[in-house]
Amino acid sequence: MTKIEMKNPIVEMDGDEMTRVIWQLVKDKLICPFVNLKTEYYDLSLINREATKDKVTSDAANATLKHHVAVKCATITPNAQRVEEYNLSEMWKSPNGTIRAILDGTVFRAPVLVKGVTPLVPTWTSPIIIARHAYGDVYKNVERRVEQGDKAYLVVEGKNPSKDLIFDFADTAGVVQGQHNLDKSIYSFARSCFNFALSEKKDLWFSTKDTISKKYDHRFKDIFQEVYDAEYKEKFEKAGIEYFYTLIDDAVARVMRSNGGMIWAIKNYDGDVMSDMVATAFGSLAMMTSVLVSPDGNYEYEAAHGTVTRHYYRYLRGEKTSTNPVATIFAWTGAFKKRGELDLTPELVAFAEKLEKAVIDTIESGYMTKDLAALFDKSKKTHALNTEEFFDAIASRL
Ligand code: NAP
Ligand code: MG
Repeated sequence: MTKIEMKNPIVEMDGDEMTRVIWQLVKDKLICPFVNLKTEYYDLSLINREATKDKVTSDAANATLKHHVAVKCATITPNAQRVEEYNLSEMWKSPNGTIRAILDGTVFRAPVLVKGVTPLVPTWTSPIIIARHAYGDVYKNVERRVEQGDKAYLVVEGKNPSKDLIFDFADTAGVVQGQHNLDKSIYSFARSCFNFALSEKKDLWFSTKDTISKKYDHRFKDIFQEVYDAEYKEKFEKAGIEYFYTLIDDAVARVMRSNGGMIWAIKNYDGDVMSDMVATAFGSLAMMTSVLVSPDGNYEYEAAHGTVTRHYYRYLRGEKTSTNPVATIFAWTGAFKKRGELDLTPELVAFAEKLEKAVIDTIESGYMTKDLAALFDKSKKTHALNTEEFFDAIASRL
């Protein structure tokens, strides 16, 4: 059989622990037999981040700016325990944080749906993709307790100085908080969302609480509308998709009643909360994919889960694990589809679609890893496979 050729490389970011094991299996069993795989390889394992003083992470992100498509394996974000375990010279920063800072993007999370795993909201027949703004607000706040008798002001120094009373705590003690955001960050959030909606051909919803927050949240609303009107309106009309703004509480009610299928852009805190709700309602973290989209059209695909440490220690002891590779496989297929679309190589897109179908058909016919078997339709016969058996089941279908 002749293998599918790739015109340009994908930036490949390898990672840690059980997901590193899975990474190799995806390539060996599902990709390399069919595709003449062309990647620019960066080893983001903690061992190599230590060896390169974390230079490999920024190199990989910069390579993504050049090649526009990347796929990333889950990586350890070091904490004190990891510093000891890996004998690190420094507590290296989160690779995702470093990559995001270089690509300047928005993270979109989407569930993979299979028949047999019914979402907790049964009307959600299509995926809901959450686009979370990941800069500022309460995550970069200043806050303090105040005593009875204190007064708190919002003070701005500079060209137009101002001093607004927040509250006079004459009668009681309390708390006070300051938040900020940046026009630049909101503009790139908006562009990432509009680009992603076009790329996925799905409607884009955006919601804030602008009726209450008439300057802060309203700024978000205005920037989205301005960018939409100036840069995306025609493209959306041509693609037959819609941009729709509504209040956050109205959006929550509409999402619950919907069949899914939209991209829902929300502010940082709303995204933090709602993405966990949506992920849980759709089933399992192991079925959740994630893509970082930069405002100027770079894409980095990954699984939303971590390195599955507990399974890795079992694997090291020589035991069989039942680790779900679906989100990692879909990170690869997402990257192949984007590479194929940018390079005009439809055979690469078709391969990615066939691989996704093989994964879904395997599960829907009752062959899956343990985490899914626990959620699966109890009226169907299910086979809980170990990691390798599940790969072989997919490979034979493919
Ligand atoms: P995790 O790796 O997502 O695993 C948490 C638990 O969820 C696992 O122990 C397992 O439960 C279940 N699980 C997750 N993915 C699964 C899969 N594919 N198949 C089956 N079960 C799965 O999260 P964590 O244990 O909090 O973090 C481990 C490491 O990952 C940390 O060092 C963290 O820094 C890193 N991390 C990286 C990323 C990233 O690179 N994007 C994201 C999050 C965390 P059972 O053990 O009960 O089976
Ligand atoms: Mg959260």
